[in-house]
Amino acid sequence: MALIVQKYGGTSVGSVERIQAVAQRVYKTVKAGNSLVVVVSAMGKTTDGLVKLANEISPNPNRREMDMLLSTGEQVTIALLSMALQELGQPAISMTGAQVGIVTEAEHSRARILHIETTRLSRHINEGKVVVVAGFQGTSSVGEMEITTLGRGGSDTSAVAIAAALKANFCEIYTDVPGILTTDPRLVAEAQLMDAITCDEMLELASLGAKVLHPRAVEIARNYGVPLVVRSSWTDQPGTWVTSAKPQGRSLINLEIARPVDAVEFDTDQAKVALLRVPDKPGVAARLFGEISRQKVDVDLIIQSVHEGNSNDIAFTVTTPILKRAEAVATAIAPALRSQSNPKSEEAEVMVEHNIAKVSIAGAGMIGRPGVAAKMFATLAEAGVNIQMISTSEVKVSCVVDANQCDRAVSALRTAFEIEAGEQGSRGAGEQGSRGEVAVSFSPLPLRPSAPLPNCPPVRGVALDLNQARLAIRQLPDRPGMAAKLFGLLAQHNISVDMIIQSQRCRVIDGVPRRDIAFTVSRIDGENAKKMLTQIAAELGWGEVVLDSAIAKVSIVGAGMLGQPGVAAKMFEALAQQQINIQMIATSEIKISCVVAQEQGVKALQAIHAAFELAGSEKFVVPA
Ligand code: ADP
Ligand code: ASP
Ligand code: MG
Repeated sequence: MALIVQKYGGTSVGSVERIQAVAQRVYKTVKAGNSLVVVVSAMGKTTDGLVKLANEISPNPNRREMDMLLSTGEQVTIALLSMALQELGQPAISMTGAQVGIVTEAEHSRARILHIETTRLSRHINEGKVVVVAGFQGTSSVGEMEITTLGRGGSDTSAVAIAAALKANFCEIYTDVPGILTTDPRLVAEAQLMDAITCDEMLELASLGAKVLHPRAVEIARNYGVPLVVRSSWTDQPGTWVTSAKPQGRSLINLEIARPVDAVEFDTDQAKVALLRVPDKPGVAARLFGEISRQKVDVDLIIQSVHEGNSNDIAFTVTTPILKRAEAVATAIAPALRSQSNPKSEEAEVMVEHNIAKVSIAGAGMIGRPGVAAKMFATLAEAGVNIQMISTSEVKVSCVVDANQCDRAVSALRTAFEIEAGEQGSRGAGEQGSRGEVAVSFSPLPLRPSAPLPNCPPVRGVALDLNQARLAIRQLPDRPGMAAKLFGLLAQHNISVDMIIQSQRCRVIDGVPRRDIAFTVSRIDGENAKKMLTQIAAELGWGEVVLDSAIAKVSIVGAGMLGQPGVAAKMFEALAQQQINIQMIATSEIKISCVVAQEQGVKALQAIHAAFELAGSEKFVVPA
């Protein structure tokens, strides 16, 4: 007999008939000899409707009252589903988050789960009842008890957290698609179903806009090794398993906030090639990386910052042994890029830097926590380490620094994030003298992204995020502490930043070398962030603050792209063929993200999905 947690999303419980169908499935699962906790969302688009009501009264409703309002949606569903089960003769009981004891931070509208009481749940389960729990909600325990919500889409997180707390055999997420597909089937009907995907890949995909799973749910599944499957509530298809290594004995206290950073990684075997002043127009990145991949050069980080005038800078890192080849390609292609655009323009220039190191912090716990990147930058600043390049993914921040400062940077970061040199820490550092990982000694997590699943293509999925805005600050003084200051301020205002990119071009103004820095934020935070930064920029003598809300971020994800030359080139080429200009590029080991104009987002996604031949023969129709 297994203990299973099932979660049903909004569409799956969108009507009385749907709720009855869910009751039938639950009943069948119990009759097959299992115990069940069922987590449900609000019916259909109820939550959207409640948000709309609130906005008719106030453009900026009080967050406590908002939680009070939104938590009612799920309460309707739990009662109705329990009744439907009882009608079938199945004993069932509905419970709100507060009744279960889902204890969260006191942060309205985005609370993280601290712990889950299991006593009452277990008692009802042992009495043979199905417990139907309201997803997306909890209660704060500090001071007076308050109803909190976890953030939109948070019922997935409730379900996986309950599965972790109960040590359930597995957690099933029932939704309106047959599982995790290569992309959103609403945008590409031929998207293909996957049998399985690694937690690392899914974490990136979910964070980059694939809303089929809440990223925090994937994070919990990974941290606690909860077997997780996404399935259709309309069919009996097996769905998609999200795989993770089985970790041992992680505490269930401070479930979602235990440790934002799991590892400090470094690599001194790196060199940087930057092309300055390449034309800002479609096809340039495709040409450059196309040529690089033909020479079988595997690039690691790729960064393209915001344009300045009509030109861009693109930089990438490679391992030292292939630097010569990479440099030769870049030098050979630079004149062609120049003459193509405006022969009289300033020359595209190739800049190579040998003595660099990449230092990264990694950990799923940093998602949505703006203070973590800021703390990394502040730590490096305090250690007197200047940051040359920054590239981020949702679960990693990598900084390129001077190789001579690598040791200092790593030891400062270790102290700041309380990472002790563990078993694995001595690995690369001792053997190769160049690469290493310093991990929490008890950390059970794979430090590098887990290996790709067998027989999988290098790119598993493509995601589109239309909810971001881009901010750029011109001419920030290039000295230790500037990134720390900037992202510290944003963190203080609770603004999460995503892709952070520092320009390569350095200009001396008033005797001070200066660079631009650009990053993306949630669109709803864009105006606020701009207002706050414009004021600070005036006080501190920084340049202009520019906001662009009409952007889209399109990303590819796959553990198999590691060490595979040509993946980036193929993505850039697909965009070039559609005449789509790339405004920013940022990469991590298992993803590449490009910012493009908002109105080209869907076309970009479709072109990239086709270029990687991810389409299947079947078309998906998502139920209304
Ligand atoms: P639920 O209400 O069940 O939680 P959601 O609407 O939150 O459902 O998530 C399911 C939706 O996610 C699908 O209808 C689909 O449009 C969207 N989606 C986006 N990316 C993907 C993907 N890669 N695979 C499957 N679905 C996706
Ligand atoms: N009902 C909430 C929402 O619509 C939570 C969820 O469905 O996951 O965001
Ligand atoms: Mg959802």
